[in-house]
Amino acid sequence: MNPSTVDTHCPYCALQCGMGLAALPAGGVEVVERPAFPVNRGALCGKGRTAPEVLARGARLTEPLVRGAGGALEPAGWDEALDRVAEGLLRTRAAHGRDAVGVFGGGGLTNEKAYALGKFARVVLRTSQIDYNGRFCMSSAAAAHQRAFGLDRGLPFPLEDIARTGCVILVGSNLAETMPPALRYLTELRERGGTLIVVDPRRTRTAEHADLHLQPRPGTDLALALGLLHLAVAEGYLDEEFIAERTTGWAEARPGVMAHWPELVERITGVPVPQLREAVRMFCATPEGMVLTARGPEQQSKGTDTVSAWINLCLATGRAGRPLSGYGCLTGQGNGQGGREHGQKADQLPGYRKLDDPAARAHVAAVWGVDPDDLPAPGRSAYELLDTLGVEVHALLLMGSNPVVSAPNAAHISERIASLGFLAVCDVVLSETAELADVVLPVTQWAEETGTTTNLEGRVILRRKAIDPPPEVRTDLEVLNGLAARLGWEKGFPTDPEEVFEELRRASAGGPADYSGITYRRIAEEDGVFWPCPQSSSDAAHPGTPRLFLERFATPDGRARFVPVLHRPSAEEPSADYPLHLTTGRVLAQYQSGAQTRRVRELNAASPGPFVQLHPQLAERLGITEGDRLAVTSRRGRAVAPALISSAIRPDTVFMPFHWPGEGRANTLTNPALDPTSRMPEFKVCAVRVEAAGPA
Ligand code: SF4
Repeated sequence: MNPSTVDTHCPYCALQCGMGLAALPAGGVEVVERPAFPVNRGALCGKGRTAPEVLARGARLTEPLVRGAGGALEPAGWDEALDRVAEGLLRTRAAHGRDAVGVFGGGGLTNEKAYALGKFARVVLRTSQIDYNGRFCMSSAAAAHQRAFGLDRGLPFPLEDIARTGCVILVGSNLAETMPPALRYLTELRERGGTLIVVDPRRTRTAEHADLHLQPRPGTDLALALGLLHLAVAEGYLDEEFIAERTTGWAEARPGVMAHWPELVERITGVPVPQLREAVRMFCATPEGMVLTARGPEQQSKGTDTVSAWINLCLATGRAGRPLSGYGCLTGQGNGQGGREHGQKADQLPGYRKLDDPAARAHVAAVWGVDPDDLPAPGRSAYELLDTLGVEVHALLLMGSNPVVSAPNAAHISERIASLGFLAVCDVVLSETAELADVVLPVTQWAEETGTTTNLEGRVILRRKAIDPPPEVRTDLEVLNGLAARLGWEKGFPTDPEEVFEELRRASAGGPADYSGITYRRIAEEDGVFWPCPQSSSDAAHPGTPRLFLERFATPDGRARFVPVLHRPSAEEPSADYPLHLTTGRVLAQYQSGAQTRRVRELNAASPGPFVQLHPQLAERLGITEGDRLAVTSRRGRAVAPALISSAIRPDTVFMPFHWPGEGRANTLTNPALDPTSRMPEFKVCAVRVEAAGPA
């Protein structure tokens, strides 16, 4: 290996694949394999392999921009840009009060940035109005985790356990496209004799690897899980001993389960009873099994209850809190896990502490050197915050997110953003949201800075700086420090990531997500450390916790909790005017809003634009042929994209990927109906009609 190669991690998804970055003689870096990193063992998808292309000058921002008198964004110096931001935030606060200033973060920010941004909002701006786009990612699974287990860590076991269990039910995850190196855990599972059941309305590339593919109507996963548990009860698969010794609440949950008899579940979901029986037989045929969910069941207005139904299946059959068994969530964004632990969520403080807990407030306030009574109350969730822009929140500082493309009901949210009195955006590229800003601050990216992230396993890892950024680019931490000084915060904000991490360790100590025993040195030496990892009082360092709940769950009595849940319809069901389901998702060559990956030539060539996937029967009924321009209309708007005709999708459902702005923006259509517990919008199902759009 080139001695100048720097070990680091991919900037994109929650797998956080290990990679090396080697300096090129002509400048820049190239990606090289890092086979020793256990998560991906050198494998990378095209997104990770091509990530250095976004480091190049032509692809990214290299100087601050401010909106000039003529209305256009114009280059400016850093002092002018930061002065403009401070003035915009102060002016808004003076006119409308502290909570008229909002902060919107991102699940791709490092732990240090997420921590610093949450602290900045609470102690410098003293606003309650902070949330982040991770709310749109895994918040339903997080809420269900908390309800059942008393603690939310996406996977309570390492990825390697997936390959060694007996059966995996994978619900609403197309990981063969979203995180391809993770597919090997499922192929290893099957090579060892285990089985894979995939639940998805589409026969995805992932579903092609399944022993059994269940293809329910969008929005009916909750009924499906209840139906499987009903059959597990009926066929004698309950683990009575486990239920008695390690759980509470089965008596309350059981009636709802028994009300979902197989024929009813077939009517709701469209999954035939024999397939339901086969799934139960496969899942219960071996003593170990797992259920893994992703955005499919989670991004629903009943997402938390849906995940609870799958957790109930695990608990009732004794497949939780035991080796090689359990429920897990495949978090999506690069730091989707760490980003939700350290304080950029509306109701949280660092260490996964609750903002409304007096003891938590006292602990964190002491670390920050402020009075606990001065910390704001919990604020609005992400969609609710975006929906009140220009109405109650008049200025916004946005870091690492592109809601113009990625928010539900995106045309409405774009209008709300455009109505702001002041918008500042910190980003690597001029995203569609940054185009609306009064000030755009160009910041460093993954290979240009050091910082930690926490992958979907709860493994805290270290991204290392491999290359200097362009001279006119600053780090997000430097931006916050510069703004804090201008806003009257005299104690300074650390700009050295390791110094921030040391403060984060103290702030998280004793909390649910305890990082106090984790150091940069340990992460480097151990290929990551799993939280919780408290600081040891003895000489022996705490080893970290790869596997949770083996002895007890994190509830006060140590038992997992069944949550009684019932099927209910989606917020929108098909009707005469809108007769089809729309579901949305990602494709192999693009990532999230596409702000970075749409700037990479190879990825753009592979996936140049949106499409509408529809079944041949539906295409024939509508008189549509492959490539025709289709107009998809929901109660919120209209999107246009070419037809992709495929028998991989149900005839009553169409699918659109959500990576693109403009007329093909899928999120123009999606429904912001919120889950009452997690405040997750219903991205994954709404009602639409489809018709030929005619020529452009
Ligand atoms: Fe990056 Fe995810 Fe691809 Fe790995 S799977 S290379 S982390 S985008």
